[in-house]
Amino acid sequence: MKSGDERHLTPRALAVTRYLLMHGPSTRADLAGELQLSDASLSRVARLLVEQGIVTEHADRGVSTTGATGAAIGRPRQILTAVPGSRHVVGVKLTGDTAYAVLCDLAGTVLATASKALPEPEDGVVPVAGAVRVVRGLVTRLGRPVTRVDGLGVSVGGVVEGRSVVRDGVFLGWRGVDLGALLTQACGLPVVLSNDVVGLAREQLWFGAGRTHATFGVVTVGAGLGYAVVREGQVLEHLIDNGHLLSHSPLDASGPVCRQGHHGCVSAYLDRTDVAARLGRSGSAVSFEQLAQLDPDWFTGAARALGHLIATVAGGLQTERIVLAGEDVATLYADPVTTATLAARLRPGDDPLQVSTEPLGFTDWARGAAVVGIQAVLGAL
Ligand SMILES: [Zn+2]
Repeated sequence: MKSGDERHLTPRALAVTRYLLMHGPSTRADLAGELQLSDASLSRVARLLVEQGIVTEHADRGVSTTGATGAAIGRPRQILTAVPGSRHVVGVKLTGDTAYAVLCDLAGTVLATASKALPEPEDGVVPVAGAVRVVRGLVTRLGRPVTRVDGLGVSVGGVVEGRSVVRDGVFLGWRGVDLGALLTQACGLPVVLSNDVVGLAREQLWFGAGRTHATFGVVTVGAGLGYAVVREGQVLEHLIDNGHLLSHSPLDASGPVCRQGHHGCVSAYLDRTDVAARLGRSGSAVSFEQLAQLDPDWFTGAARALGHLIATVAGGLQTERIVLAGEDVATLYADPVTTATLAARLRPGDDPLQVSTEPLGFTDWARGAAVVGIQAVLGAL
């Protein structure tokens, strides 16, 4: 997405909008204090945001100070509220065979969903022009009920450069594809591209863990493991190894073997593709619960592996806050073995880590992409 877009907010206007989206309606006094703005600056910013339709302002007379006679004294408090319907963005998650899309408002609420199959790969490469046509069709379809779509966020598994180029799109067979430029041309919209797990981290930064923690880790568990890092309010765009070193931490030398031949590493227990293949169930459709019925011992090992993985990520990042995302990761996290493993890793007397579990279906992935789109539209990237 081009910088210098006339629709981007000024840094102060962005700070106010972001605060209202993250924390809900606020008084002028609270905003001025939290964001260290003078009354005059805040007045200018509020007027600008009201003009642009992003914020509404109203007087809160119900809680104004009352004097001894019960009569209101002083000016009523001015409350600012973000207007969710002031912007709309489409988010698309591309897998190896399907485009999953959502329409979101400014507050990241999903208003509609749609999906369409991508063209069949040719020599292991999904045809780019055909994929662009699929995304354009989804944007048109989802945008029908709203006055206009303000931007498009797209996420893929793999390495993304400059928020536009798919440098290494493992599942699509793409290398060096400037998908952002192609989609901007095809859809006539500002487009921002991101790695799919980075998209989830950006979504959590505004609408999840970031509300209370400036530093946190995101771990996705399912058909493969994924990681993202937020440090002091900044999302790390690139991991050096896509989390490979973490995924292959050794746990039990007599444990099952991963695809790379390690005995008892984290992946051998938690990568659902590895586990399913070992238990004679290929394909990503199989759930942890189904696998647990096939091999209860594996499930106990997986719960222990999850506890260790959470502790390792939290220790490396120096945060007590971890977001676990996965289709059925909540089942695994709820196992007493996970909790006991985590407790045993802590120093005696330390508070337990703060771990939340988030569902992670295709709509959730697409919503992550949409939130990156919202941040780009507002000029936050
Ligand atoms: Zn391994």
